[in-house]
Amino acid sequence: MKYALLSDVHSNLEAFRAVIKDLERESVDHVCFLGDIVGYGADPAQCIDILKGLTSWIVAGNHDWAAVGLTDTSYFNSAAKKAVDWTTELISPSHQKFLKSLPLTCMPSGIQLAHATPHKPERWGYIYSLQEAQDGFNHAEQQICFIGHSHSPVTFVENSEGTVSLLPDSSFSIRDEYRYIINVGSVGQPRDGDPRAAYGIFDSEHSSFIIKRVVYSIEDTKKKIIEAGLPPSLASRLSAGR
Ligand code: ZN
Repeated sequence: MKYALLSDVHSNLEAFRAVIKDLERESVDHVCFLGDIVGYGADPAQCIDILKGLTSWIVAGNHDWAAVGLTDTSYFNSAAKKAVDWTTELISPSHQKFLKSLPLTCMPSGIQLAHATPHKPERWGYIYSLQEAQDGFNHAEQQICFIGHSHSPVTFVENSEGTVSLLPDSSFSIRDEYRYIINVGSVGQPRDGDPRAAYGIFDSEHSSFIIKRVVYSIEDTKKKIIEAGLPPSLASRLSAGR
């Protein structure tokens, strides 16, 4: 089976459409979404509608829950908070109902999906360090856990002795004796210095994983953010990929 792993679209319709076009060429069997369909960008309603038709394997992100009052936003920076409030005003009751229905984790076909961390995902913690990855592995329920949230693709591996290390490659083979926490990066607001949309493809038959990068019309997205009256920093950061 070939799985596409998408995360952090953040209402960026142009990036979302470009990635969907790319994964159609990859002929994937299933799409999994790792949270944050809304927040930051100018097209929350359209992105939700597309996601609903794309897959039912979806977990909630902190921005999704924030837009429907399910999580605290006091730690959000002011641009993020403004975008969340703008999104709440804009989306319909049926979109709100959809966001409220999203679970924090799900486990389709032996893989685990979470937006932030495998353990206590509702705390929206980050996995940056080896220690944070170790905590994740201590509570992961499957051999492979896919996450998003940081907007930077990175993979942590735990070997059979329980030693955790960072795997810098964006394409690698999955080994039966190892466990993996794989951050697939962000479709709609990459922060690893590469402004192209990012998503992952896991091929369970060939035991392989790859991060793909897709070019989209960043200028169109930026224009919409400005025209919507959202904070300009949310537009400018897209070209920098930060
Ligand atoms: Zn996000």
